[in-house]
Amino acid sequence: MKILVPVKRVVDFNVKVRVKSDHSGVELSNVKMSMNPFCEIAVEEAVRLKEKGIAKEIVVVSIGPAQAQETIRTGLAMGADRGILIQTDVAVEPLGVAKILQALVKKETPDLIILGKQSIDGDNNQTGQMLAALLGWGQATFASKVEKTDTGFNVTREIDGGLETLAVKLPCVITTDLRLNEPRYASLPNIMKAKQKPLATMKPEELGVDLSPRTAVLKVTEPASRKAGVKVKDVADLVGKLKNEAKVI
Ligand code: AMP
Repeated sequence: MKILVPVKRVVDFNVKVRVKSDHSGVELSNVKMSMNPFCEIAVEEAVRLKEKGIAKEIVVVSIGPAQAQETIRTGLAMGADRGILIQTDVAVEPLGVAKILQALVKKETPDLIILGKQSIDGDNNQTGQMLAALLGWGQATFASKVEKTDTGFNVTREIDGGLETLAVKLPCVITTDLRLNEPRYASLPNIMKAKQKPLATMKPEELGVDLSPRTAVLKVTEPASRKAGVKVKDVADLVGKLKNEAKVI
């Protein structure tokens, strides 16, 4: 089985994001960038499938600027076999990413694509679903458990009412939720080995994909700051505030 894992380079989750003064977006210069945490979980799951002997090859792919090579190298250090960078300096929308991946699937013919459920910069939660629709493949999103079956996978998903288990046949698209696994840290020897693994670079034009944007960002603003809380003296004080100030009881 061949697995394709799309990984996105995003602002590191520990960074306090700042809005640009002209409200056109968020500040990216001199900001630490890392692999999107849900993509790390996707790479980890693919590596575990390889370790179990279910997968033969793992290809990580990123669509982004030249620096996204670092993100791909992280995936290679975690255990992926080779990388592909689709290099572009423009911000690509989820539909554009899905179309690029669709074109890449024709070339690479993977059996399984594991993506993050969401990128933490745009919080889109769209790419996996769009990709499955474009390919006409089955999809199991928000996976918290993935088990191999004879024809594909049983995927347990976290939904509002609890857990749902879907059976998907190969080829299929799976997107990862937070509790699927705990991604490993790449060891120093594996980071060194990753430098020797193959990494190909392509331009979106080579895949013949139309990336013209369908949406425009009008304005980015900070969320409204939250009011400070108050400490209550005792239960009576709390009940009094809930009754007379919050008026919720
Ligand atoms: P999104 O739909 O933007 O929330 O992203 C969901 C998932 O799609 C991410 O976790 C990645 O696996 C994949 N993805 C989105 N954008 C990119 C990108 N530029 N390069 C590679 N993978 C991406």
